[in-house]
Amino acid sequence: MPPANAPSPMLAQWFAAKENHPDALLFFRMGDFFELFFEDAERAAPALDIALTTRGEHAGKPIPMCGVPAANAEPYLARLIRRGFRIAIVEQTETPEQARARGHRGPLPRAVVRVVTPGTVTEEALLEPDRPSWVAAAALGADGMAGLAWLDISTGAFACRSVPARDLAGAVGALEPAELLVAEEAASEPALAPWRNRLVALPGARFRPEPARRALEEAYGVRTLEGFGAFSEAELAAAGAVLGYVRTTQAGKLPLLAPLSREAGGTTMAIDAATRKSLELGAGETGLLRAIDRTVTAAGARLLAARIASPSTLVGAIAARHDAAGFFLADAAAREDIRVLLRRAPDMARALGRLGLGRGAARDLAAIRDGLGAAAAIGARLAACLLPRPSLLADAEAGLDPAPALAGRLSLALVPAPPVKASESGAVASGFDAALDAARGLRDDSRRVVAGLEAAYRAATGIPNLKLRHTAQLGYFAEVPEAAGLALREASPPPLPGLAHRQTMAGTMRFITTELAELDARIVSAASEAEAREAGILAELAAAVRADARGIAAAAEALAAIDVAAATAVLAEAEGWTRPEITEGRDFVVEDGRHPVVEAAVRAEGGAFVANGADLSPGTRLWLITGPNMAGKSTYLRQNALIAILAQAGLFVPARAARIGVVDRLFSRVGASDDLARGRSTFMVEMVETAAILNLASPSSLVILDEIGRGTATWDGLAIAWSVLEALHDRLRCRALFATHFHELTALSGKLPELRLAQFGAREWRGEVVFLHALKPGAADRSWGIAVARLAGLPREVTARAAAVLAALEERARGLTPLAEELPLFAGAPKAAQAGPREAAFAALVEANPDAMSPLEAHALLVRLKSLL
Ligand code: ADP
Ligand code: MG
Repeated sequence: MPPANAPSPMLAQWFAAKENHPDALLFFRMGDFFELFFEDAERAAPALDIALTTRGEHAGKPIPMCGVPAANAEPYLARLIRRGFRIAIVEQTETPEQARARGHRGPLPRAVVRVVTPGTVTEEALLEPDRPSWVAAAALGADGMAGLAWLDISTGAFACRSVPARDLAGAVGALEPAELLVAEEAASEPALAPWRNRLVALPGARFRPEPARRALEEAYGVRTLEGFGAFSEAELAAAGAVLGYVRTTQAGKLPLLAPLSREAGGTTMAIDAATRKSLELGAGETGLLRAIDRTVTAAGARLLAARIASPSTLVGAIAARHDAAGFFLADAAAREDIRVLLRRAPDMARALGRLGLGRGAARDLAAIRDGLGAAAAIGARLAACLLPRPSLLADAEAGLDPAPALAGRLSLALVPAPPVKASESGAVASGFDAALDAARGLRDDSRRVVAGLEAAYRAATGIPNLKLRHTAQLGYFAEVPEAAGLALREASPPPLPGLAHRQTMAGTMRFITTELAELDARIVSAASEAEAREAGILAELAAAVRADARGIAAAAEALAAIDVAAATAVLAEAEGWTRPEITEGRDFVVEDGRHPVVEAAVRAEGGAFVANGADLSPGTRLWLITGPNMAGKSTYLRQNALIAILAQAGLFVPARAARIGVVDRLFSRVGASDDLARGRSTFMVEMVETAAILNLASPSSLVILDEIGRGTATWDGLAIAWSVLEALHDRLRCRALFATHFHELTALSGKLPELRLAQFGAREWRGEVVFLHALKPGAADRSWGIAVARLAGLPREVTARAAAVLAALEERARGLTPLAEELPLFAGAPKAAQAGPREAAFAALVEANPDAMSPLEAHALLVRLKSLL
C-alpha cells in the first residue's frame, strides 16, 4: 500500500521527467493531447491563452492542468518558444496495443524524446525562413582569446573561430544566435551582457577541449579532426559544447553535420555591437537588409543577411562576388530566367535538416525533389549562356546536379504535392510500387463494392432510405429510420445474411451484415498494409537523401549564392548602384554616395535625396563635419559606413563610383543625447564605447563619430571631442568622419594637416529654413540656431539679444585658435582658466538648444545669462 501522499504511477513518471528537465515545461503526452501540470500549467496557460483546469489531486491539493492537441501542437510551441520558454516533449513510447501485448499494466511507458529550445527547432512554423537559426557557444581561453562555435541544426551548417575576448560581443552580434551557451563561471562576463536573455549557462565540464575533440571525431566518424583544420583549444571547447547541447536536446540524435569549418582570424570586418545597433544593419523597419534584399529564396535571404553581418576583408573573395553580380548585370535574360526558376526552388537545406534528424515528412522529400529539379534547370540555363561564367558562378554551376539518380527516383515516387502531415498517407505516386498499388487497389475495390451495395440492400429490405455509412467504432453499417428498423430487427428470416442490430441513435437504427463486416475487415487490412508499405518507401527515400546529403547541401548553397548574385544585379540595375573597387590600400573615395534607407524614405515622401561624396584617402583621412540640426550630418556619416559594409559584403553600392581600401574594423558611435530616450547612463556608455575605438582602431579602420561629447557639460564634452580627434589623427591614423556641434573644433584644422572641414548648409526661403543636404567645404555658419529660433517665433528682442551675445561669444571662442596652437599634443591637461561667471554664461548659452525651446524657456535662459554676468 503506497503512503497517502505518494504520487500515482503516472505522476511519478511526470516527476521523474521534471527532475531531469527542471528548466523546461513538460509537454506530457496523454492520448491525443500534450498536458501540462502544476506550475508548468500555471505559466503556460496565460502565455497560450488557454483554459487552466485541474485534474486529480496531489498532496491533498488539486493539480493545475492545461493541454494542447498533440496533432496541432506546433503553433503552441512556437508561441512558448518566442516567449523564451524551453519545452521537453514527453512521448508515450509504446502504443496501448504494444503495452497490452507484452502484458504491461499501469500507465504507458513515456520518455523525453526532445527538448525544444529557441536554437534547436526545425519545424517550418517555428523557424524564420530568411534568418539562420544558430546555437552558439563561447569558450574563454587562457590567452585572452575566446573560441566561438555556431551550429544551425535546421541546415547542419557548423563553424567556429577565435576572437580576442574583447571582440566577443561583436562577433556574437554578427550571428545573433537564438541561444548562446557559456560555462556557468563565464555567464556574468560583462562582454556577454548584451546577450543576457539568450544565455544558457552550462556546467564548465561541458567546455573541456579534449572530450570535445573526441566527441567531434565520433560525430564525424573520423580518427582525427586534422582534415577539417587546426582548431584551438577554446574553439574545440566551444564546438564540443554546441554538439553536446544539441545532442541532449535531440535526445541523443544529431543533425546531418556539415564539416566543421574554421573561420581564420581577420577574414571578416570586425563590427562591434554598438556599431551594429547604430547602423541598423538588420531586417527591422528601418534596417539595411529590409531596404536591399531582392533575393527570391529563403536560403538566398539567409546568405545575404550573413554577408551583411560579416563583410569580408579578402579582396579576392569580394571581387569574386562582384564578378558574379556583374555577370547577371550583363546577361539580364539569363538573370530573369534563373530568378523564375529560383522562385520555384523550395528550401532544400532545411528540408534536408529535418530529414537528417528523422523528423522529415513526405513534404520534405518533395522539397528535395523540386529543389534538385530547379537546381538542374538553373545549371542548364547557366550552361546555355554565351558569356563565360566568373569563378563563383562556375563553381556553383558545377554542383547543381549532385544526385541525378535520386532526383529521378523522387520524381517517380512522389505525388506532385504530398500531404503536409507525416501521418497522412497518399504521398507515394501510383505506378511506383506494385505491392503498394495492389494493397491500395484492394482497399479501393472493396470501398467500391460497399458503395454498390446500397441499392441492393434497399431492394432486399424494401427500405428506400436505407443508407450505408461508416464510423471508426462500427466500421460499415446500414442505417435506417427507427420505424423501419424495428420491423427489420423482427423480420424472420432476415432479408440479409448475418443481419444484426448494433446501435439505436435518435430516430435511426444501425445494422451490420456478414458481408459488410467482411468487406470492412478487408478494407482495414488493405489500408494498413498500404500504409505500412508507403511508410517503408518513404523511409527508404529519406535514407537515400541522407546518403546524398553532402551533395544536396552543396547544391542548396550554390543556389543561395546564385540568388544573391542575381539579386545584387537587380538592385544595382533598379537603383543605379555601382560596383565598388576594392583595394589593399587605404583609399576611401565615394562619388555621389547615398543612404539606401533614408533615400527610400525621402523618396516615399516625394522628396529627392541629395548625393554627397567623400574622400578619406591618405592626406585627407579625417573629415570634421558641421551644420545645423536636421541638415543631414548623421545620414551622411552612416551612408559612408554602410557603403563600406555593402562593398565588402560583395554587393554593389549606392554611389556613382567608389574605391575602398579594405576596412578591417568599423566603428560607429552616436553621441549620448540621441540616446536619452532610453534612459541609460548615457555619458558613461558613450565614453566606454569611445574608449573601445581608441584601443582597437588600426590604420585600416573606418571610424564614424556622430556628435560625441554631448552627454556632458559643454567644456568637458568639447575637451573630450577635441582630444579624441587628435588621437584619431595622430595616433590611430585611421579614416574617420566626425560630425560635431562644437564649432570650436574647427580651430584644429590648422593644426592637423590631414583634417578636412566640411559643412551642411541651409537657406532661409520665404520665412522657412530650407536644408540643402549638400556637403561643401568649410565650417558651418553658426548663427543658424538663432535663425531657426526666430522662425519658430521667439520674440524679436530675445533673438536680437541672443545674436549680440553670440557675437561676443564668438569673439571669445576665437581665442581657441591660439589654444590649438598652444596645446602640445597629448601633453597633460590644458591650463584651463578658472571657471568664472563669463565662462558659466558662455557654457549655459552653448548648451542651450534654441530649436527645442519654448518662448518661456528662452526667457528663463536670458534671465539666467543676465544674472550670471
Ligand atoms: P543631422 O544629423 O544633421 O541632424 P540627419 O542626418 O538626421 O540630420 O537628417 C535629417 C533629415 O534630413 C533626414 O531624416 C532626412 O529626411 C533628411 N536628409 C538627410 N540627408 C539628406 C540628403 N542627403 N538628401 C535629402 N534629404 C536628406
Ligand atoms: Mg544627427
